[in-house]
Amino acid sequence: MKKSHGPALRKEQVILAKCSDCQGRAVVKGVFYELPCGRCNASGWVSALTGEPLPLEELVTQLGLRVRELEQQADRQRPPRTEGPSGQYETNNRRGAGGTNYTGD
Ligand SMILES: [Zn+2]
Repeated sequence: MKKSHGPALRKEQVILAKCSDCQGRAVVKGVFYELPCGRCNASGWVSALTGEPLPLEELVTQLGLRVRELEQQADRQRPPRTEGPSGQYETNNRRGAGGTNYTGD
């Protein structure tokens, strides 16, 4: 198993930490309802290095990278024996929904 900490090939990945204001929930409790957290651009995440929120454009990219990473991890951890038609169907479906479109170039 390889560690996934090295530098990213295409886009530099920023290490994210949970926002301390909203505990990573992206929202804070207002008086009557929850409000978008102003500290982290309502993402729940800030840069782990600086503790500052990322600019929106960067944030979107970083969250995208992160989701992809987690999806790939989940894929790897899934037991490979998906025998039977229903298992295969679900696997293919999942790939088609999320995995195919996000390769960049
Ligand atoms: Zn926050």
